This record gives sequence, C-alpha cells and structure tokens, in this order.
Amino acid sequence: MSTSSDAAQTSAAASPVIPPDQAAARSAAEENQSPRKKRGVPEGLWLRCDACSATIFRKHLDKNYRICPECDYHFYVSASGRIGQLLDEGSFEEWYADMSPLDPLGFADKRSYRDRVVEEQKKTGLKDACVVGRGYLRGRPLVLGLTDTAFIMGSMGSVVGEKLTRATEEATKARLPLVIVSGSGGGARMHEGIFSLMQMAKVSAALGRYHEAGGLFISILTNPTMGGVAASFASLGDIIIAEPKALIGFAGPRVIMATTRQKLPEGLQSSEFLLKHGFVDRIVSRPDLRSELARIIDYCQIRRPAST
Ligand SMILES: [Zn+2]
Repeated sequence: MSTSSDAAQTSAAASPVIPPDQAAARSAAEENQSPRKKRGVPEGLWLRCDACSATIFRKHLDKNYRICPECDYHFYVSASGRIGQLLDEGSFEEWYADMSPLDPLGFADKRSYRDRVVEEQKKTGLKDACVVGRGYLRGRPLVLGLTDTAFIMGSMGSVVGEKLTRATEEATKARLPLVIVSGSGGGARMHEGIFSLMQMAKVSAALGRYHEAGGLFISILTNPTMGGVAASFASLGDIIIAEPKALIGFAGPRVIMATTRQKLPEGLQSSEFLLKHGFVDRIVSRPDLRSELARIIDYCQIRRPAST
C-alpha cells in the first residue's frame, strides 16, 4: 500500500517544478472541472491549503503530519499514513485485509456499484474504506480501526461494519484497548441500502458488549465524520477525541436549515463547537495524538488477563 507521501515523491520526480501561482490556478481549474474533489491522488510539488489558500510545499506538509504551517488546517491522511503516525514502526498486523464488498442490490446510479468499487480499489489501494488490526503504541498493545475518506467518502457498507465489529470482538476477547479513527464523510453507504444501515446497529452492539466487558474505547474523529458513522461507533467512545477544526455532524448544515428553518449557530459541526457543548472530550492536534493516547491508556489502567 503506498502512502500519500510515496505517491507525492513519485509524482514529484516525474514532473517539473510548478510555480505556486500556476499550481493554484491549475488546482482551481481541476476543482471546477471535476464534480467532486478527488482525494488521495496527490500530484505536483505544491498544493493549496483548503482553509487559508496558502501555497504549501508538499514535502513540508508531509514532514509536518500533513498540517498547514500557516493556519494549522489538518489535511487528509490515508489509513496507511495514519497507522505510520500513530503506531510503533512495523508493529501493525492487519486483519481481514482481503474482505471486499459485494453488490447485494445490483445498485447503479451514474455507474454500477460494482464498477465504482473496482475503481476506488485501484485509486486507493484499499479493498474498502476500513482497515483494522493490532499494533503497538509506544509499546502498549491495542486494536486499531480506521476509516479512510478517500474510498467512497469513507462510507460504512457491509465490509466496514463487519471489519469494525470483528475488531471490536477481538479487542473484547484479548482485553485490549480499542482505538477507532473515523474519517467518513459519507455516513452509511447508500449503494448497499439496508445492508449498510444495519451495520450501525451491529457495530454499536459489539461496542456495547466490549463496554460491558470493561474495555476502553477511544474514538478519534477526523475531518470529516458525518452521517451514520457519526451516529454510531464514532460517537460511542468512552473518550472522544477530535482533531482541530474537523467537520463532525449528522446531516449537512443546508439540510438542517431546510428542515428546521432556523439560522444555525456559528461554527456548528466543528470540533471546537462540539467540545464547548460536551460532545467531544478533547481536541488534540496530530503531533500530540500518540502521546495523548498512551497517556489515556495508562491512566485507564487496562487490566491484561493474568498469564496462566
Ligand atoms: Zn492553511
């Protein structure tokens, strides 16, 4: 699986240096042409910050945990990039890596779901939007799950739900802390209809059993965490951490305004707003996340089973 920085380096070697203004113009033109923003397919040496429009040298961004040096905006990080940032090097053992989605409804919108899945798999190097496994964080064993927004907006279909459920069950059996990093703008995956919706209940039930068994579940919300993902496992953490300025919510602001016919408060659905209103326990910047997780795990003193 190649990381964004690998892809960036390959692309940088192949293409000449592009002056910042041209890169910005090109990026704007691309945005206008494509119906939705492509993620996880970086190119060129420079890119423009989505938040402050500063032009950033891509290598600086990769060295800086993919955080804008000008405004602290947290850029997208792939699942593999995230594992590299969080876990001890080489310690991650991936589970159920070959689990791939079926097409139970024979669904098609602009194109068939089957074709879309193949395309997304090629684009991201992932089989679906979720990666789970076991690893070590500063020597502490844990079970880690991640959703990757580059794969159909990180939406939760049957594979995402099944992997997270199994990971939770493994964490229950092994009495290990569970950390799930959610980056899901899509909520439940409409292409799988009811099979997607039932994943919300399934993962939540597994988390309920994990909770009863005394497990520690830390949910990390990244930009974006929306819809059925926000409405199920992402909100069920014993401790809920958010990255700064992440978009977190259920329906989008336009839908809420159309439904309630009310003016929405400033900054609604941002990490900062949710922290102020008690939905999020702590906002942690990416460079501090590893230490913070280690500290929480130690503080909660997860008891390992006595070796017999
Ligand atoms: Zn910025």
